[in-house]
Amino acid sequence: MIGAVFSAPYILIQRRIIMDCLFCKIIDGEIPSTKVYEDEFVFAFKDIAPIAPVHYLIIPKVHISCANEITEENSNAVAKVFEAAAKIAKAEGIESYRIINNCGDDAGQTVKHLHFHMLAGIKMGWGPESLGKTE
Ligand code: AMP
Ligand code: ZN
Repeated sequence: MIGAVFSAPYILIQRRIIMDCLFCKIIDGEIPSTKVYEDEFVFAFKDIAPIAPVHYLIIPKVHISCANEITEENSNAVAKVFEAAAKIAKAEGIESYRIINNCGDDAGQTVKHLHFHMLAGIKMGWGPESLGKTE
């Protein structure tokens, strides 16, 4: 009985946390996006402020706040993201691309829903200068 009394508000709290997430709202269609791919596990859309000719965000539908929250229980979501990336690349004829995940503030993570930047369409540098340090 006590469980029944407390379970409904608990579910509401859980849902509210997820609904406060920008990318959960994009998955739900509550906030518009330019979708490039979707399946049961993954949603991918164009980044609103692209830093390369091709700049997609590939995200798991399950809410995971950052890479540091990946566990044995939820890591299949990451495999699905990379499966989706390969499908997107093949479908769009993208032969070379970079996938980046920013985890935490110093790395530049601004949206706390695990996401992978897929960048392509430009010759990319690699080295300390490519970090774009802010200080
Ligand atoms: P990060 O800085 O790694 O957390 O990446 C967040 C990315 O989300 C940035 O590249 C933003 O440009 C992008 N972004 C923020 N809001 C939106 C939006 N409404 N639609 C598409 N991309 C967005
Ligand atoms: Zn979310």
